[in-house]
Amino acid sequence: MAPYGYINNASTRNIDIDPVKAKIVKLAFKEFGEGKHTLSSLSGRLFELGAVGRTGRPLCVAVLAQMMRQKAYMGIITRKGESYEGNFDPIVSLSDFEAVQKRLKSKAKPRKVKKGHNFPFVGLLTCGKCGAAITAQYAHGHGGTYVYYRCTKRLGPCSQKYIGSNALIEQLKGRLEKIALKDEWAKYMLDEVTKWEKEEKSGGKEFAQNLEMKIVEVDKKLNMLVDEYLEGNIEKEIYLKKKDELVKTKTDLNKKRSDFGRKGNNWIEPMREWIKEANRAGNAALLNDFIAIKSFVKRNGTNRRLWGRKVGWDWNSDFKFLAELKEKLGEEIAKLAPEGREQKTKFLESCFMSG
Ligand SMILES: [Zn+2]
Repeated sequence: MAPYGYINNASTRNIDIDPVKAKIVKLAFKEFGEGKHTLSSLSGRLFELGAVGRTGRPLCVAVLAQMMRQKAYMGIITRKGESYEGNFDPIVSLSDFEAVQKRLKSKAKPRKVKKGHNFPFVGLLTCGKCGAAITAQYAHGHGGTYVYYRCTKRLGPCSQKYIGSNALIEQLKGRLEKIALKDEWAKYMLDEVTKWEKEEKSGGKEFAQNLEMKIVEVDKKLNMLVDEYLEGNIEKEIYLKKKDELVKTKTDLNKKRSDFGRKGNNWIEPMREWIKEANRAGNAALLNDFIAIKSFVKRNGTNRRLWGRKVGWDWNSDFKFLAELKEKLGEEIAKLAPEGREQKTKFLESCFMSG
């Protein structure tokens, strides 16, 4: 039987990774290893993400504890007390696995237990009409209990209508998917950035070495010039003129050297973070991870509002650029002949969560 996160593959008689469940497992190890949860609060967190036991209820603590000890997640199988490398892909890194084992053994209380509440998006939006905060409440009816979000009307009367929780979630996810980079594409881009970084480093090294050589050369020439002058081989006037030229060259070279040292390649890390962030957006939407969705939107969106049952915000510049680029590409593609259009659309879909 495949552990949670994997699926049995009847044709290969092996197990394959289940892309969504594997992400949930990864997140469980990461957050538990960081000490954010007790087993019981982790169970609640995973339930929100859709991980349930056979009865459809949250995973019980004993099952969860057993799950978090499965070496299979590192790609290891155990037979008769001995460990072997399995021929399937691991889901969890060695360091994350070890962090979890440490937590399971220690009696230390988690640093902060996230309280599960059912209004995850309170505090995210304000009313687009009157500017008051958006709050949430339960409603009973149609044989169930529902959550809906509405204007608090704290700033005076407001005509804005409520929005159901599910409709709100769909809109939030829809907007995130528009700028989300898929795993494969994010990995490809990060690999490219690493390549650029290496190229720039080696190019920079050559450049710096070249400068050093030129400076040494100028020094040599200066020394020779002084010797010649002292030996009376050249006139004072020529000596002074030549010396001024060389000193000026040397000053220029020194300035170039210090400019170069200061500049560095400080665009690399922001670029990396941007790619990872765009990838996070996709994972948050894919997993229905409301906490992650909310924090992503808070980090990257301003003027977050609800108006006429529509969610909106202004992306910060990085994501504004991405959203605009995608829209533009979409428009260009729409103008193409059908054959070209299909191919390019596929490419766009392969990069982003939604085409
Ligand atoms: Zn309002």
